[in-house]
Amino acid sequence: MSVITIKIIYDNCKHNATLQAGWGFSALIEAEDRKILFDTGNDLAAFLSNSEAMGIDCQTITDVIFSHKHRDHITGCEEILQKLRSGTPVYLPKGFPTAKIPGHLPVQTVEGFVQLGPNVFVSSLKGGFFLQEQSLVLQTEKGLVVVTGCAHPGIVEILKVAQQQLKAPIHFVLGGFHLFRSRRSFVDGVVTKFQSLGVQKVAPCHCSGPFAIGQFQKAYQDNFDEIGTGSIINIP
Ligand SMILES: [Zn+2]
Ligand SMILES: [Zn+2]
Repeated sequence: MSVITIKIIYDNCKHNATLQAGWGFSALIEAEDRKILFDTGNDLAAFLSNSEAMGIDCQTITDVIFSHKHRDHITGCEEILQKLRSGTPVYLPKGFPTAKIPGHLPVQTVEGFVQLGPNVFVSSLKGGFFLQEQSLVLQTEKGLVVVTGCAHPGIVEILKVAQQQLKAPIHFVLGGFHLFRSRRSFVDGVVTKFQSLGVQKVAPCHCSGPFAIGQFQKAYQDNFDEIGTGSIINIP
């Protein structure tokens, strides 16, 4: 796979003073000639102005993935998806309110671990009662690149499943790790599990929480990426 580029359109933190940030997550992932919109964040006006400032043209989006149905990941999706080219596939977890997806876009409900194309996979797991969440998994020569929304099924569980399915090391994990309400000892256990799973690089954001972000930074140092709204991450 050639270079992967991940552009953070919306996140709790700001990496560019001119953009709008808030609780939620949205990213554009460019890989294998695809431009994958992953979630739409929590604020339609912010999504529109941030994506315009970042030079993102909705007409060039090739796929849409919604991690899960929580508001901080899908706000404005009806309006945003209206701007997409006809026929752009939308991948949804089970239980997602499909009525929110405009009729010109085909919907595919993902169950389990599914390949979307060369080196591109979606992994859907149970994230608690009536909540299904999916993560994006990219296969590269360096290992797997995993992008998560809120990681309600558990970030370690998500990584274990990806590793079992593709039998490859985990190179980079980016997104919400959902540790903002976790005990400190639990967070430290997660960091240790990342290391024992052999995860090479991390970029926790959104619902990871400041404590967990700090602990990952301490443990990973140069292999930790501090990211937020406006970040552009290149993975060679
Ligand atoms: Zn969230
Ligand atoms: Zn959530």
